[in-house]
Amino acid sequence: MMKRMKSELPVALLIIMMIAAASALYIDNGLIKGVLDESADAKVLRLHGFLTYSSIACLAAGLVLTVFWIWPLMQHHTKEQGKLQSLTGLLKERSQKLETEALTDALTGMHNRRFFDEALSQYLAEFGRIGKPVGLVLIDLDHFKSINDNYGHDVGDEVLRSVALCLFEFSRYHDVVARLGGEEFAIIAPNMGHDELRRFADRLRAEIAGLQIAVAGNVINITASFGIHVTFGKETPQAIMKRVDVNLYRAKQTGRNLVCA
Ligand code: GH3
Ligand code: MG
Ligand code: MG
Repeated sequence: MMKRMKSELPVALLIIMMIAAASALYIDNGLIKGVLDESADAKVLRLHGFLTYSSIACLAAGLVLTVFWIWPLMQHHTKEQGKLQSLTGLLKERSQKLETEALTDALTGMHNRRFFDEALSQYLAEFGRIGKPVGLVLIDLDHFKSINDNYGHDVGDEVLRSVALCLFEFSRYHDVVARLGGEEFAIIAPNMGHDELRRFADRLRAEIAGLQIAVAGNVINITASFGIHVTFGKETPQAIMKRVDVNLYRAKQTGRNLVCA
């Protein structure tokens, strides 16, 4: 509305000015004729009349053109512009939504693998630059397949959601908590030294083991194995992932429901 008024205002002013100029010419012609009648010859008088009326005619033609051609054209243009703008806004909104979806795990609503990989690279680079530690935690649920086998896939999904909620609840605001896929989760814990990371992981391990997940009339218990590692940004994301993976494997091999560093 504001935009429309903004573009119509100059045209309205132009119309007013043209009307004013034509009126001024018309009045001026009447006045000057009275004076010239006495002295000037008929030829000059005719020429003056011709010039005045052709100026008025030009202004009138300009007025008609403005009112019936330029104004409607402008209005059409403004309308198209408005439509285009709302379409662009809609598309931008949609692409933002798609981008968010592309970085979110649909089942748990937490960050997905793509987001995690990107975040890990950035955290390693930034914290490496200032020489601060970055803690990494890799989590894999124990014998999760048997939950699917015993209770069904939907119950398995519910267990995954409960574990995700638990991880959210016990991690800090700046930690990046993600589901990497299947029953595997990971946390980037910036500025966390080794001892603190171990306490943090052990707390999470205990919380998961203590969950009483009530689904479809069943109460399900689950445990998880943890691989952890602290880096000062000197390792590549691949190398640090490899390390936590090896540590996680050790936790699985040495009895599960364990944290290995
Ligand atoms: P381990 O203790 O050695 O890790 O054993 P596990 O059973 O947890 O590991 P395994 O890799 O054998 O099985 C993982 C299972 O996770 C198999 C797969 O059906 C299940 N799974 C993967 N993604 C999903 C999912 O989105 N929902 C459900 N319900 N199950 C999933
Ligand atoms: Mg697994
Ligand atoms: Mg597993």
